[in-house]
Amino acid sequence: MANCPNCGSDHLSVAGGNLNACLECGTSWEAAELYQIRRIIQELTGASLDLARETDRYYMKAFMHEILSDFEAIPTVKSAAAKLITDAQSKKHDKTALMFIAGLPFGIGGCIGKGGGGGFLIFLIAVIAFTAFGRLLDQVEKKDVERDIKRAELKAEQMVAAAQENLQSKLDAFQQSYFL
Ligand SMILES: [Zn+2]
Repeated sequence: MANCPNCGSDHLSVAGGNLNACLECGTSWEAAELYQIRRIIQELTGASLDLARETDRYYMKAFMHEILSDFEAIPTVKSAAAKLITDAQSKKHDKTALMFIAGLPFGIGGCIGKGGGGGFLIFLIAVIAFTAFGRLLDQVEKKDVERDIKRAELKAEQMVAAAQENLQSKLDAFQQSYFL
C-alpha cells in the first residue's frame, strides 16, 4: 500500500512508469526515489515509516531537509579522498632513463674530442656517471613520493572521518529533536 508523502492519501495515480501522483493534493514523485529515501531513513534511524501518518511524513520531510545532503555527500568525499591518494601515487618518474639519455651527448662529445680507445672510455664514464646520478635522483624522489603518498593517505582518512562525524552529529541532533 502506498501513500502520498505530502498528504498521506492513498488516492494515487501512476502517471507513467515510475512516476506517482496524488489525486488529493496534486503532489507527484518518483516511486524509486521515495523508496530509496525510506530505505536510507530506516538504515540510519531504524525508523520504518508509515506515510499514512502525519508524524511519519513530517519526520521524513525533516530528515530530507536536515540529513539527506550530508548523507549523500559521503560518497563524494570518499572519491575525492581516493583521488588524493592516486594523484600522489602517480607522481613517480623515471629519472634513471632520462639521465642516461642526457649523458649520451656528453659521452659522444668526449668520444669525438679524444678519439680512439680513450674516447670510448670517456663515453662510457659520462654515460655511467649520468645514469648513476639519475638513479640517485630517483631514490631521492622515491622518498618524496612515498612521503607524499603517506600524507595523502592521512588526509584522505581525515576527510572521510570528518564527513562521517558530521553526519553522525547531525543524526544525533535530529534524533533528539524528532520522534515518531
Ligand atoms: Zn497528497
